[in-house]
Amino acid sequence: MQFENTVAFAQTLDKVDPLVEYRSKFHFPLHQNKPVTYFCGNSLGLQPKHTRDYILAELDHWAKEGVEGHFRGEFPWMYYHKFLTPQNARLVGAKDSEVVVMNTLTTNLHLLLVSFYRPTPKRFKIIMEAGAFPSDQYAMESQSKFHGFDPEQAIVEIAPRTGEHCLRTEDILDNIKEHGDEVALVIFGGVNYYTGQFYDIEKIVETAHEVGAVAGVDLAHAAGNVPLKLHDWNVDFAVWCSYKYLNAGPGGPSGLFVHERHGKNSDLPRFAGWWGHHEAERFKMEKGFIPMEGAEGWQLSNAQIFSFAAYRASIEFHDEVGMEAIRKKSELLSAYLEFVVESVNRPGLDLNIITPKTSKDRGSQLSILTGENGKAIFDHLASRGVICDWREPNVIRLAPVPLYNSFEDVWKFGEALVSFFDIA
Ligand SMILES: *Cc1c(COP(=O)(O)O)cnc(C)c1O
Repeated sequence: MQFENTVAFAQTLDKVDPLVEYRSKFHFPLHQNKPVTYFCGNSLGLQPKHTRDYILAELDHWAKEGVEGHFRGEFPWMYYHKFLTPQNARLVGAKDSEVVVMNTLTTNLHLLLVSFYRPTPKRFKIIMEAGAFPSDQYAMESQSKFHGFDPEQAIVEIAPRTGEHCLRTEDILDNIKEHGDEVALVIFGGVNYYTGQFYDIEKIVETAHEVGAVAGVDLAHAAGNVPLKLHDWNVDFAVWCSYKYLNAGPGGPSGLFVHERHGKNSDLPRFAGWWGHHEAERFKMEKGFIPMEGAEGWQLSNAQIFSFAAYRASIEFHDEVGMEAIRKKSELLSAYLEFVVESVNRPGLDLNIITPKTSKDRGSQLSILTGENGKAIFDHLASRGVICDWREPNVIRLAPVPLYNSFEDVWKFGEALVSFFDIA
């Protein structure tokens, strides 16, 4: 398609957008009494308008039923996590028995590392991307220390080649092979939070398995953003959060995946709680933990109903539309954003997109390396009601989100960039 950087062209794309109706189902914050141009869905997705009703319904249920709410009504709290399972399974390409929603992301990462990072003196290394999201770095550092290893020796970070910003798949695979039988765990983001690179998860998992290692993925920036096939890709375990591309609200719950070949293994060590115990026996309150089969066997606690309710509301959209249609718009919207940025770029803006140019290697995100005026440009955008985020030292991240961003939003972003020179 031949793009044009005009408002008329952007509006034409909006008119034929099959997802156009979804935009009106979200609340947009206001800036000077007008809806902002929101490109921060990679950090905190916008609020669906029906989320309030889902939370109010649980407040009413509590008011009306008290403790009986655990067993009564359409969505009894005792089983509440199950009301999120099929949607999450479809979202990440898993069987229902392989996923559960519980806790928050970093907590779940640690809980799964209890089962899946079991280093020995010979096989103890963790291979991960350099510059992973800090929480993941701290998790790996503290896990290796917990097992008595020096993180400097245990953690192998794969960095881009000099002068490059993203990783080459071949470099990732070579690195895994090079460390071979010393590798206990390979853990990658599905989509890197900084560059927006979508890694070739299937190949990474395959190579990790070839050297006898376990393979996990952190899907914080991938879930709800790119199509996933965790079961077929043979991923051992995965975690994601629900408040970025999945719009479940601040601190929203996390999903986790455990491949069925592990879910059936009740001998896997784990930290246990009553909600992971064999369901029929749970209320006998007896000694002796018997894990449930599947991902549910990793649960500790009963569900945080209000945040789960918000997640039930928001994931409806993904379930209704499907990741295929979301991906289709995502590719077009990102390509248009890339075109607009390249069209308006000039000396003084000095914009350099570091996200991969090929659609298959990225999600709904462009990360733009800026020059000297970077922070001033970012502040100027904010003053024009364009919300994106700033990552030190000099990157502007933008997430054009298929469910609520329009092509006109993208055009507005270009206009706001150009107007930087009006004030400079
Ligand atoms: C957003 C994000 C987190 C956040 O973790 P919480 O435990 O939900 O606070 C962790 N890891 C990655 C890769 C993220 O993108």
